[in-house]
Amino acid sequence: MAFIRKTYKITIIFVIAFFLKINTSFAVDDGFGAAKKIEGKYFTVYYSPQLEIPKLLQQLNISPSDNLLVGRPLDQGLGLADMLDVLFLRACDILDMHLYSFHGTVKIGKDSIQLNNIYNYLFRKNVAPRSFYVYDLNTIYTSADNFSRGVIGHEIGHAVISHYFVVQPSVKIQEVLAMYVEYQLKRSGQGN
Ligand SMILES: [Zn+2]
Repeated sequence: MAFIRKTYKITIIFVIAFFLKINTSFAVDDGFGAAKKIEGKYFTVYYSPQLEIPKLLQQLNISPSDNLLVGRPLDQGLGLADMLDVLFLRACDILDMHLYSFHGTVKIGKDSIQLNNIYNYLFRKNVAPRSFYVYDLNTIYTSADNFSRGVIGHEIGHAVISHYFVVQPSVKIQEVLAMYVEYQLKRSGQGN
């Protein structure tokens, strides 16, 4: 009887531990509770309600030739999620790494101050990069201040690289590849 009771107790402890773990892994409070949401094919996009979509689209600067390069019809009126999908396909082409079941998250804060706060909250470090990709959350964090095809392409590059390889290349190699995506996207975005 004593044994059964003990097992029972242990089971309870495990169940509690299990739920605590679920709670901590899903309840990441990054300040995007009030954010607006758009669904794309490759990304679910959250953005601060203060942000204006047309401005973000302009900053992203996706051109008809980007569409053409990824085989999309030119006359399609593209929204923010569609443009990020185009950028994802461009990044896959540039890296020559094609993913068939990718779906990540992009979170766009209102400015670099908000981005800093998120970075501090997640990593306990004060100065955030202009944007960053969190592998465990499969999430790109960025802000309107640094929202451009080069910067977002760089982070999408990180997402693609980390999903493509079973054994991850070194951090340095991943950075070089992400920088290569950024460079190519910047170069092809000039003059648009
Ligand atoms: Zn990087």
